[in-house]
Amino acid sequence: MADRTPWSLSGALRGMFAKKTIDEGTWEDLEDALISADFGPDITDSVIEELRAQVKKYSTTDPADLKRMLRENLEERLARLDPTLTLTARPAVVLVVGVNGVGKTTTIGKFARFLGRHGRTVVVGAADTFRAAAVEQLATWAERGGAQIVRPQQQGQDPASVAFQTVEKAIAEGIEIAIIDTAGRLQTKSGLMDELSKIRRVIEKQTEIAEVLLVLDATTGQNGLAQAEAFIEHAGVTGLVLTKLDGSAKGGFVLAVQERTGIPIKLVGQGEGIGDLTGFTPHVFVQNLVG
Ligand code: GDP
Repeated sequence: MADRTPWSLSGALRGMFAKKTIDEGTWEDLEDALISADFGPDITDSVIEELRAQVKKYSTTDPADLKRMLRENLEERLARLDPTLTLTARPAVVLVVGVNGVGKTTTIGKFARFLGRHGRTVVVGAADTFRAAAVEQLATWAERGGAQIVRPQQQGQDPASVAFQTVEKAIAEGIEIAIIDTAGRLQTKSGLMDELSKIRRVIEKQTEIAEVLLVLDATTGQNGLAQAEAFIEHAGVTGLVLTKLDGSAKGGFVLAVQERTGIPIKLVGQGEGIGDLTGFTPHVFVQNLVG
């Protein structure tokens, strides 16, 4: 990960930590760095206020202490939500939602392979039945990931019926995890939410839904989050997947998105390759962020 961290703050903070003592300029530099990394004004103010109080309490003037406090502060904030995926049910059904273009299909392929490598059996359901190209792309990725796939029998088939068949196959064949891809056409927001509700209802007649993962493109920052608002309100999202972090300079968005939604980040995509998906570990993330 270390060679692909455009979102690292270490460059912006270098000057600040190179100083001999903490002074007013230090706080200004820190504020600028946090704002430019897209932490947002609220988190920035709150982090700085807490660090000022801590520096005062321990009467330190050493920038190295401040750096350690910054790491601890950010890690503690990120760890407030549990990033663990709950995949213990049999089958564990994972619904993947998000706006087109954010990296949903790629993420499902990577996720299927990630699970396959951990010895889990996976079936993927192509319930985005209007995008024929997406179904083919998903099939390619699923194959690469060693997963089976349930495709629509014809273009535009009821997405809920594909979801149903996917879960049915998982139950009948003892496949451990069923990942369902869904549509992300924002032009028809209310239709899309109805479609998702129907998919949920159909699955819930068969088994519980283990996770609803909302995929967000980290390069779109706060804008992308606004676009995904409808999913957060209506889709029962249990976890976030941040994609394209390898192309994002906005490391602070990671914390902002968690604090704003109250939903934990569970997976992170950092590249276009099939191996470029990892679980989210606040400690590792903060080490890379602050340096
Ligand atoms: P979907 O429309 O949401 O299904 O999006 P796709 O899975 O088709 O991905 C859209 C584009 O984003 C493709 O070109 C992917 O290769 C790219 N992509 C997806 N995830 C990542 C990532 O983590 N990093 C980078 N750099 N590109 C990604």
